[in-house]
Amino acid sequence: MARVIVITSGKGGVGKTTTTANLGMSLAQLGYQTVLIDADIGLRNLDLLLGLENRVIYTALEVISGECRLEQALIRDKRQPGLLLLPAAQNRNKDSVNSDQMKYLVSLMETNYDYILIDCPAGIETGFHNAIGPAREAIVVTTPEIAAVRDADRVIGLLEANGIQKINLLVNRLRPEMVKSNDMMSVSDVKEILAIPLIGVIPEDECVIISTNRGEPLVLEKKLSLPGIAFENTAYRLDGQAVEFIDFESYSKGPLKRLRNFFLGSSTS
Ligand code: ADP
Ligand code: MG
Repeated sequence: MARVIVITSGKGGVGKTTTTANLGMSLAQLGYQTVLIDADIGLRNLDLLLGLENRVIYTALEVISGECRLEQALIRDKRQPGLLLLPAAQNRNKDSVNSDQMKYLVSLMETNYDYILIDCPAGIETGFHNAIGPAREAIVVTTPEIAAVRDADRVIGLLEANGIQKINLLVNRLRPEMVKSNDMMSVSDVKEILAIPLIGVIPEDECVIISTNRGEPLVLEKKLSLPGIAFENTAYRLDGQAVEFIDFESYSKGPLKRLRNFFLGSSTS
């Protein structure tokens, strides 16, 4: 049976799709048969980040409606044959799929693959509920900013209310120099507020944007960048390996008191 993991956040633009692409590619590199489902109906971009956009013919919607078979819609990555993408429909309303249909899609795949990662849309409305429906685990992505952390907190509550107990945290776009100058929350602050296990920390780096624009996930590079290593390490941890965290904040002076008080109340700080 596949591990079915939704990559979610609440807030948009924090790095869900980047995470899905890089973790998926890493897991496939580890030898796992991995399917990525783009559940961001209408705004699909996982195909772009993977550089597979020109190969999209059918999408999840045609599989659901019976217009094509699953195998016709799945796109196999040429660079890494262990990786497959099930694209989302474009120019369609995000309500055109429901939760039972998402569960049906996953049920078609879960006995044939090792990992199924679901790239969740932003927000906590219909698209979110559809994406989390079939998931048995979640990775909550947040940046170290108040708005993103608060949305992540809300999403964790909703995931738990929907019976998803295994929830891991990924902190993205960390800027150690800002943590040092007390202008950004530290990873330990975020971890303490959200109180779920940390699975990855990815630094802010322009090479992530370049890789997004090129459609080449960072973990494909021969000489890995720091964010590339951080994504690969996250995949290893997901696989159950004990990999130490890179200490991006070694020079960080400690917690941001105001933010800690905001979330935790002054008595705990
Ligand atoms: P989401 O799917 O949550 O909306 P994306 O993965 O599409 O977010 O990322 C949004 C933008 O942020 C993209 O342009 C991406 O390149 C950029 N980005 C994501 N992570 C990082 C990072 N660690 N450093 C720099 N840019 C990043
Ligand atoms: Mg996205």
